[in-house]
Amino acid sequence: MSPQVEEQYDGGPVAALRRIAFLLERGREDTYKVKAFRGAAAAILPLPPEQVAAAVEDGTLTDLPGVGASSAKVITAAVRGEMPARLAELEREHGGPLAAGGADLRAALRGDLHSHSDWSDGGSPIEEMAFTAMELGHDYLVLTDHSPRLTVARGLSPERLTRQLGVVDAVNEHLTAGGAGDFMLLKGIEVDILDDGGLDQEDELLARLDVRVASVHSKLKMDAPDMTRRMVAAVQNPFTNVLGHCTGRMVMGNRGTRPPSRFDAKAVFQACVDHDVAVEINSRPERRDPPTELLELARDLGCVFSIDSDAHAPGQLDFQVYGCERAEEAGIPAERIVNTWPRERLLAWAKK
Ligand SMILES: [Zn+2]
Ligand SMILES: [Zn+2]
Repeated sequence: MSPQVEEQYDGGPVAALRRIAFLLERGREDTYKVKAFRGAAAAILPLPPEQVAAAVEDGTLTDLPGVGASSAKVITAAVRGEMPARLAELEREHGGPLAAGGADLRAALRGDLHSHSDWSDGGSPIEEMAFTAMELGHDYLVLTDHSPRLTVARGLSPERLTRQLGVVDAVNEHLTAGGAGDFMLLKGIEVDILDDGGLDQEDELLARLDVRVASVHSKLKMDAPDMTRRMVAAVQNPFTNVLGHCTGRMVMGNRGTRPPSRFDAKAVFQACVDHDVAVEINSRPERRDPPTELLELARDLGCVFSIDSDAHAPGQLDFQVYGCERAEEAGIPAERIVNTWPRERLLAWAKK
């Protein structure tokens, strides 16, 4: 019998912990499981490697604030150049392709127009979202935290959004100085569509953003004629670039299911065509929005689309392939998907 040979691993402890968190998020595991690994990665990132190695040898890793028993096992293996068992197990469980189709379209995507950080209801800092988007091969990520009225999601007041724009500039400067190539974090918002179709943020701030996703998050059960007027008004707003998860439905998940909002989809999508607003294909598995018949209607009316992850954690940035699979099934050509365009073209389009 040959002895069990440890698989080698040379990524280092921070990469191992981040990869574990990524795979858990991608596999839609509960965030509390993820937090320990992300917390441990953040805890050891600033430490000199010798100090981490010494803690491994002394068995004192768990004395470090933010490092628990399971993270310590991962760090120990990685420091010794061995594949951490937890990582190997997760690669097997969650590392494979998420969807059967959509791979070609996914390869054609250059970025993502809808993502959240821990400034609103996301689970990770802005820079972690940006790093992960880079690692996935994107040229850009649009950061679209929520607007003020969505208080349950810690929507950003004008003051907080103003501060966030400064942080985005700083992240970009840092990435450029660090030789990150051409990647850019873009300024955006997921702005609530108010009951009258207005947008829930000051025009002056909306004007400073690169991309604006407008979504309905409240009074989803409004009468169809009122909802149609509301959505058409939002689409007509010159700041709107993308109509986010248009029906608001939930098909599964821990928030339960929710029927789609009722509205005159033909009128809303025609307004999208007339005002050059992209219909979002929201890739979150619990949303699958728009439903297939509406996706086909938007296709037939000549809409453009954006395939968005609506990621609330770095690993969820990988959800885009679900939307790609649906777009492919609906026969939507890549040319009509705005995030297949080069970044400069996308930015020019979003300026209108
Ligand atoms: Zn939303
Ligand atoms: Zn969102």
